[in-house]
Amino acid sequence: MKDLLVDEFQHAVADCLIRHRSVLDVLSKFQEANARVHRAVAKAVTSCGCIRIHAQRPQIPAHSTLRDLKALMDDHIEGELCESCREVLEEELGTQLFYLVALCNLFDINTFDLFIKENRKLSTLGMYHIS
Ligand SMILES: [Zn+2]
Repeated sequence: MKDLLVDEFQHAVADCLIRHRSVLDVLSKFQEANARVHRAVAKAVTSCGCIRIHAQRPQIPAHSTLRDLKALMDDHIEGELCESCREVLEEELGTQLFYLVALCNLFDINTFDLFIKENRKLSTLGMYHIS
């Protein structure tokens, strides 16, 4: 079922991608979408104020194990997105997803297979994956 939904989305993206078919267009639109995601988070902080970012160097006690880090590391977000900011962020993330899948299409990469590969890496490497 989930694989069908991902495949259906990938086909829909392929059908929609007529005007920005060049890999250069897709790459630049993907990057623009990424910037808009950052902008949505920044506006939630600076315009709306529903969230705040309070970042500082993590205080990691000596002799902490790698497993301890998960509890010690902070996301630096205070508060929760209001409905309006969540809507904007979801919209921008959706656009980013669209162009990610468009890139997959251009290079004949099946998006669902990509999910499976990444999930396998997570299962195998756990917290050692990416970082
Ligand atoms: Zn807000």
